[in-house]
Amino acid sequence: MTNSDLKQFVFVGMDKKTIAIIGAGIGGMALSILLAKNGFDVVVYEKNDKSGGRCSQLLREGHRFDLGATILLMPSIYRTVFESLGLNFDECFELKDLSTIYKLYFGNGEKLTISKDPEVMRPQLERMEPGSFIRFGPYIKKGYSFFCESYKNLLSRNFYNLFEFTTPLNVRMLFRLKVWLRHYTFVKRYFKNENLQQAFTFQNIYVGQSPLKAPALFAMLPGTELTEGALFPIGGMQQITSRLEAEALKVGVRFIFNTTVEKIGVEKGRATQLIFGDGNSSNYDLIVANADLPYVYQNLLPESRTSRGLENRSYSCSAVVFHWGLKKAYPHFAHHSIFLAKDFSKSLDAIFKEHSISKNPSFYVHAPVRTDPLAAPPDQDTISVIVPMGHLDEKKPQDWDALKKQVRTDVLKRLAEEGFADLEENIKFEVCYTPLAWKSIYNVSRGSVFGSIGHTIFQMGYFRPHNRHSRYRNLYFVGGSTNPGNGVPLVLLSAKLTYERILKENLQL
Ligand SMILES: Cc1cc2nc3c(=O)[nH]c(=O)nc-3n(C[C@H](O)[C@H](O)[C@H](O)COP(=O)(O)OP(=O)(O)OC[C@H]3O[C@@H](n4cnc5c(N)ncnc54)[C@H](O)[C@@H]3O)c2cc1C
Repeated sequence: MTNSDLKQFVFVGMDKKTIAIIGAGIGGMALSILLAKNGFDVVVYEKNDKSGGRCSQLLREGHRFDLGATILLMPSIYRTVFESLGLNFDECFELKDLSTIYKLYFGNGEKLTISKDPEVMRPQLERMEPGSFIRFGPYIKKGYSFFCESYKNLLSRNFYNLFEFTTPLNVRMLFRLKVWLRHYTFVKRYFKNENLQQAFTFQNIYVGQSPLKAPALFAMLPGTELTEGALFPIGGMQQITSRLEAEALKVGVRFIFNTTVEKIGVEKGRATQLIFGDGNSSNYDLIVANADLPYVYQNLLPESRTSRGLENRSYSCSAVVFHWGLKKAYPHFAHHSIFLAKDFSKSLDAIFKEHSISKNPSFYVHAPVRTDPLAAPPDQDTISVIVPMGHLDEKKPQDWDALKKQVRTDVLKRLAEEGFADLEENIKFEVCYTPLAWKSIYNVSRGSVFGSIGHTIFQMGYFRPHNRHSRYRNLYFVGGSTNPGNGVPLVLLSAKLTYERILKENLQL
């Protein structure tokens, strides 16, 4: 369906259908707006005391931290989905187009400033690998063409059955998108320099997957970054959350915070009610889970083959995040900085094979004050350090306190080596999220915050857990663990897809 097809649908002469959404994350809120604007009576239950989930914010002593999402990529998707919500994305926010998308610090001491401006890239690439600039353009163009084609034929549509997905046209497309080639093998066709190979594949970690294993299709990530750029909404990514919540309230959605759904009641093949911790329950015509899909199958619904099968799926990695309020400003941090591990492939194995972290991890630093001075008190700084690491694994011992201490020491050591020597002594306060916290605060299975279901080829498109339950046909899903995938833009798209499906399947209710 295109945006114009999503015109207002009103249940003329009928009682409004009631619909409950479990979770006020980006996915739940975007969907709530579409549904409420189109004739449904919508109520959203959220376990925490505020909306936004993994796209919310922490305020402390004048410092403002984005708790999860920090980079606004693929702005074209935000524009499309906001248009379907009846909003003009560019008018909703004060958006800054970052001239330096991020600064990369490689393990061998080299640095690279990533920019959409070819004249910024040319001398740096030529210095690192003479002759590489001429191949950089085609690599980015190819990556962006993967994005455009997969957006049109894969990400922005529902597949209602396997035959729709496995048409000869789609199979040919999957070959064109190089889903059977590894991204790391693909990048070697363009760059011999190992640092450049890392620079144009590490983005796989955004969606919780190993750059060494991910399919070449994911060249779409550097492709979109360097074509559409990276934006930052003044006020932080929480602005997206706040705008969605305000719009939802405006169109009549009701939010009930501090309320955990403990079970979904089912009867005769239908999901009929939500059951809460205090024993109370409420009945609805339709139910949508924005909460993590494997968590919902395994904790809110009766055990089934699917809930057991989800155990064997591949899960994205997790992350330890340190939010630091700093007594002084560090203006030489770019808005986004990436510090790549000295032994890149060993550090990836530690995350993805051992479900742990190496002594020398890769990590990312968000320093929003560069673009948004109000993110910290004057002459002070606000930084968040995101360190990808293995997800929770019940089959092996993981001492999170010890791992957290180790990661903190290793990160500070690397920052000191890179010129941020006195950072530790200027930390006023610290807030830390480990994989255990992601699981307990947001109910994300295995703390796999970038999915949770990973983005392997056999977990995408029709093979990703579907946005409607196969048995309880009035129970839908929205968010990063169903179609099309994780990350704020795809979660917004997920709301549009689930809405289209609800409309298609419930017009004759
Ligand atoms: C550290 C980190 C960095 C990230 N960086 C980026 C980035 O730079 N750019 C980007 O685009 N994306 C990024 N992401 C991913 C992005 O944040 C997520 O894809 C997105 O926010 C997920 O939205 P969602 O609606 O699917 O789920 P959630 O945000 O998890 O929302 C689900 C909601 O359901 C609630 N809930 C769960 N169980 C229950 C229950 N039983 N009853 C009631 N409520 C319940 C939860 O509390 C939560 O609020 C990052 C994520 C993390 C964690």
